[in-house]
Amino acid sequence: MKKSDIKKVMVYDQGPADQPHPAFWQNMAHLQKLLLGETVEFIRLCCPCENPQQAVLSIEPVIKEEKPDLLVIPATPLGEEAAPSLGIRLNTGVAAHCADIVINGQGRIAYMVPAFGGKVIGEIFIPGSRPAIATVKPGVFPYTEKDTAAYRDILCTCVPEDRCSVRITDIKEIHNQQSSIEKARLIFCGGFGTGSAENWKKLEDLAQRTGGGAGCTRPVVDMGWGPDEYQMIGTSGKTVRPKVYIGFGISGAAHHLCGIKDADIIISINNDKDAEVFMASDYIAALDAGEMIDCLAEKLQQR
Ligand SMILES: Cc1cc2nc3c(=O)[nH]c(=O)nc-3n(C[C@H](O)[C@H](O)[C@H](O)COP(=O)(O)OP(=O)(O)OC[C@H]3O[C@@H](n4cnc5c(N)ncnc54)[C@H](O)[C@@H]3O)c2cc1C
Repeated sequence: MKKSDIKKVMVYDQGPADQPHPAFWQNMAHLQKLLLGETVEFIRLCCPCENPQQAVLSIEPVIKEEKPDLLVIPATPLGEEAAPSLGIRLNTGVAAHCADIVINGQGRIAYMVPAFGGKVIGEIFIPGSRPAIATVKPGVFPYTEKDTAAYRDILCTCVPEDRCSVRITDIKEIHNQQSSIEKARLIFCGGFGTGSAENWKKLEDLAQRTGGGAGCTRPVVDMGWGPDEYQMIGTSGKTVRPKVYIGFGISGAAHHLCGIKDADIIISINNDKDAEVFMASDYIAALDAGEMIDCLAEKLQQR
């Protein structure tokens, strides 16, 4: 998208209508300077929402109606969650956590986004889809009282009260044995090598009978063998610190191992004697996962 392609910009403001959030002023000030010389309509999209879901459902119809070319959202906890959902619902691109928004050498709008733990800054482009959505960490763009005065009379579209129709009426905590794997001292963890929903169920029974927790890897969730994401261990799941972790049919991918690195004792069962997971384990057994699960269940039965 070129600078001259931008005719309408919306800047999201989660503050109350009469009290704009500082991040709103920062983003607005930067965008007005960036697009100086172009004929651009700037709109303050004001929607003081209680949660990201409410923000998404409230903002979406306004965006569809107003059709802005660019929507900038502060990367506050609310904005960070709302932006990708809006991106999906509006079928458009999102540049998240921008450290800057610039016009590059070719006159294109580039969203500067840190990558690889902040070691490099990548130029992100959102060429075709509209609106391009960008989230910007509060404080990234400088702003002064002078900016506030200069931009005070920008157009303000407030999402009507009745559009903010989603309210939290109740918060339910999930109380069951599986939700406590972070606290469990003993964890039975099932991987893709456990092979079936039936074996997953047996693992859960083992956990229940021993007062332990049942965890799993990503493929077990994806296969629909029973567990939910809250039982997944790893980068995008839980980090656990049990006294003893027993993994069944798990290969040892880094994404999973990082979630168990603080376990005191790691025991792994895998039918491949060269499995990667064995390198990270204290005790290993090159055996069939299903047979081991049955064997443990039988031993427990005898006690
Ligand atoms: C961004 C990203 C985030 C991710 N986050 C997570 C995460 O949080 N948690 C997570 O778990 N994964 C995560 N993953 C996926 C991860 O990379 C691995 O794909 C996953 O951990 C592999 O799970 P697995 O070991 O159960 O399956 P596989 O890698 O398929 O391994 C199955 C193992 O079972 C063994 N096996 C097969 N049959 C038997 C048998 N009968 N008896 C005994 N052993 C048997 C095989 O030898 C093999 O080693 C993520 C991936 C990405 C890209």
